[in-house]
Amino acid sequence: MAPKKAAKISTTTKAGMYDKKCPKCGAILKAVKMARSSKASGMFWMCDCGFEAPTNSLK
Ligand SMILES: [Zn+2]
Repeated sequence: MAPKKAAKISTTTKAGMYDKKCPKCGAILKAVKMARSSKASGMFWMCDCGFEAPTNSLK
């Protein structure tokens, strides 16, 4: 089950899997776990500019 090394995107690194950049301002997003009732709960990428997205929506 060991995944073969993907050759599609040469810039993909292990660190790159965890460092997501904000599509709005380009800052590094922070993974934050949120529990809330008004919107979906779970892990979210968050940015100081107000951007947020579920971690499973940004690959
Ligand atoms: Zn941002």
